[in-house]
Formats: sequence, structure tokens, C-alpha cells
Amino acid sequence: MISQDVSLSSKVLKVVNSSFYNFPNEVGTIQQAVAILGTNAVRSLVLSFSFLNMERPKYGKGFDYERFWEESLAAAVASKLIMSKVSDADADEVFTVSLLQNLGKLIFACAYREQYDQILKDADGSEQRLLELEEERIGANHAYIGCEAAKHWKFPDALTLPILYHHTPKVAATEGAEMLTAVRVVHLAGLLANIMYSGKPIEYHAPFRERAQKMFQLAAPAIDEILEKANGEVAQAASYFGLNIGGTASIPELLQGANIELSLLNMSYEQMNRELVQAKIQLEKLASELEDKNSYLEEIANLDGLTEIYNHRYFQDFLDREISRAIRRETELSLVLADIDNFKKFNDFHGHQAGDYVLHEVAALCGGLIREYDLLARYGGEEFVFVFPETGQADALLIAEKIRTALEQHMFSFAGDSYRVTSSFGVASYDATGLMKKAQLIEQADKALYSAKKKGRNRVEAFVEKSGWFGRGK
Ligand code: GH3
Ligand code: MG
Ligand code: MG
Repeated sequence: MISQDVSLSSKVLKVVNSSFYNFPNEVGTIQQAVAILGTNAVRSLVLSFSFLNMERPKYGKGFDYERFWEESLAAAVASKLIMSKVSDADADEVFTVSLLQNLGKLIFACAYREQYDQILKDADGSEQRLLELEEERIGANHAYIGCEAAKHWKFPDALTLPILYHHTPKVAATEGAEMLTAVRVVHLAGLLANIMYSGKPIEYHAPFRERAQKMFQLAAPAIDEILEKANGEVAQAASYFGLNIGGTASIPELLQGANIELSLLNMSYEQMNRELVQAKIQLEKLASELEDKNSYLEEIANLDGLTEIYNHRYFQDFLDREISRAIRRETELSLVLADIDNFKKFNDFHGHQAGDYVLHEVAALCGGLIREYDLLARYGGEEFVFVFPETGQADALLIAEKIRTALEQHMFSFAGDSYRVTSSFGVASYDATGLMKKAQLIEQADKALYSAKKKGRNRVEAFVEKSGWFGRGK
């Protein structure tokens, strides 16, 4: 039958006479080929031709038919290479089986189209995952379907069984030594094709070496030789079988490339890690700066811009807190209002700038004369307020007098001129009964201050209920 197909005969003879077989003498006819190679080998060759020259389906959005045949041919060539290393048996049948091992994939691709495209996509280059997804979504894997199709075409067991077992070589152990060898070779050839075509050479390289060693005790140099030769042999076989292939780089080159990519990936990971650490440090720095800025903001929100002491609002809050504390602890508390005397005139005479300077200096002087837990704040304009916790009226009068004297004696020097100012003080003390309101306390201090002004300024006056103003001063 083959002889009668001139085109097929010439193709078969071309391969038989090629370095694929390396016969010393030319083989001129199919009969001679059968005599030299045996019926099985020639049948395998014809099958390979038929398979490789099968018409490509028109449909093929996702499934890459050209690549499928190329990969199948690579597996076939690989099985021949491997077989030559592990057994004297003819390699023609494993060649054909390897070529046909993924027949089931082809059937799925034609029968299920989009669905199978999706399965391939979801498997993402993993053969194991692909088998699971096929079973899950189609109900059978491609090994089973390929075997059933081959059986249907009445292929012999030598071809159908390795197709069935090509992903599960262990199961083939019951089929006899020869079959087991064939299945193992086809399995390894499939892994080798995966190294070349899966895009994940490293993932298939290790299992290939490991299993080649385990299944056939193949030593590292023999494995290396197979890996090195594979892509060249595939290209050659493609030309014998009239297949136009893109080809791949050699496996050592593929592995090297993948390793470089991997180390680049690791490097960029390290780089990323470094940058993350830097970013974290930067973030912590910013956070602590923010904290500082916030507390600074809080601080300046409580300060008066001109005198750099606490402002009126802070004084109010402070006094609230101190009154509560005085009630809780049943302690005394005194409030002193101070007002610079005739300050309007001072401004009128010496200018506002000198006035500002005096205000700032008065604040600084007063601040230096009080205890740490006392409060000095700018009450407003040229008025200052002191809060003396745990201080009764007598002591408050003494402190106020001390401050009055210090201010009176101080020489203010500004822009080459010297000035003196005096101040008046009004003292009020909290009675510790808990009945007095804050506003009342301030009002009393204000009244005492008014009294000091009325009595001639530059003096300290205390508020005394009913019995009138109790004066004290110069
Ligand atoms: P008295 O002895 O009765 O307190 O007389 P006085 O002039 O000090 O009081 P008055 O309340 O009439 O005037 C207060 C003056 O204080 C008016 C204003 O020019 C001055 N003053 C208030 N705030 C500031 C300030 O921030 N800077 C300067 N330079 N002067 C201020
Ligand atoms: Mg005033
Ligand atoms: Mg004044």
C-alpha cells in the first residue's frame, strides 16, 4: 500500500536514507526499507508522516497548532535520543508514540475549542494541573482520550498503552519490561519537550534529571548529552519530515537564560526589599517629625506671639484645671493680674516698637521670678496674669511685691535708649470652699488691680471682701 503512494514512499525513503538512520548503503525501495527496518518501524514512520502532515484546523485562536506539532516532534526526537542511551530496542516505535502522546490534547483542542483554550490557560504550563483540569471540566484527561482514539484506529498495544501511561509510568509496571521501558522513555521525552516548550525550563529540568537517573540509572554526562543534542536533532528531524518549525535555543542556553532571569528577579526582589526598608525608615522619620511638629504646633497654639509666654486661652484652661485641683486637694490658689502703668503714654512717647520690646522683656523678667508650676500668661494688651497654685493670699502678695519691685528697678534698653516702667498688681485668692466660680476670682483680681491704679499705681492690692480693699505696696 505504501509503495503505491509515490509521494508517501519518497518521503519515507528520504527519512530512511537520512542521518536519522545512518545506514551505510542507500535504501531504494519501501520493500528494502521494510526488510532492513522491519514492518513496525516503517509503519511508525508512515504514521509519523501522516500525523505531522495532518491538515491544521482553521480554528485556532488559543491553541497553537504549529507549536503543538513542533513540541510533539521534539518529544519524538527526544524519545529516540533517550532510547539510544538506555536500550538496544528499536527507537522507531517510541518515536511515534511520543509524537502521538498528546493526541488527546489535539482532540480536545478541536472538540472543545474555547473551553480547552481556557483549560490550557488556567493550567499555566503545568502538565499536572492540566490533567486535573481536563478531568474536572471534560471528564477525562488527554492521555486516556489519546489512547482511546488510537485504539479506535486499531493501533497496536505497543502504541496505545504508552499513550495512556505517558503521565503515569508507575502504573505501566504490570505491562511487562519492554512496555515499561517504552512508557518511561515516552514519559522522559515528554518532560524534555516541556523543558524546551513550556517556557519554564527550570521547573522541568530537575524532574527530568532525577527520573532519568532513577528509571534508567542514566549518569549525568549521558543526561547532559541528551539535553545538549535535543534542539539540533529536532531541527534536523523537522527538515526530514517536511515540517517548518521555529525551533528553540539549546536546552543549556534555555536553562542559562531562565537562571539569569531568576537571579534578576531575585536581585530586583532584594532591591525592592532594600527600598522598602528605606521607605519604612523614611516613614518613621517623617512620623516622628510630624509628632514633633504637632507638639510644637500645640505648644505655639498656646503661646502668645509677641511675648512668647502663654496666651489668654491657655490661661483660662490652666485656671480651670487648677481650681479643680484646689477643690479636690483642699488647697489654696492665688491669681494676680498685672498691668503696666501709663503704657499708652509710653507708646506715645517712645513708639510702639519700644513698647513691644518692653512687653517682651516684662514677660521674660516675670517668667524668671516664678516657680515651675506657677503660670504666667499674657492676659491681653499690656496686662499679664499669674496663677499661683497652693499659694494663699499672704504669699501671693509677697510674690507680687517681689515682681513689682523687680520691674520697677529694671532698666529696659532698646535701640540705644533706656526706659523704666512700673506696674500695678491686683491679687485674689481662691477660698477653697468650692463655691467660688472662676469668673468671680478673675473679677476680684481685676477689682484689686483697679484699686491699685486708683491708689496711685506701681503698687500691689489684694481683694478683701466686705471690709473693702486691703492695700499693700510702696
Ligand atoms: P494704666 O496705667 O491705667 O494702665 O494706663 P495705660 O495707658 O497703661 O492703660 P490703657 O488701657 O489706657 O492703655 C493700654 C495701652 O497699652 C494702650 C496700648 O497702646 C498699649 N498696648 C496694648 N497692647 C500693646 C502691644 O501689644 N504693644 C504695644 N506697644 N503697646 C500695647
Ligand atoms: Mg490696661
Ligand atoms: Mg496699663
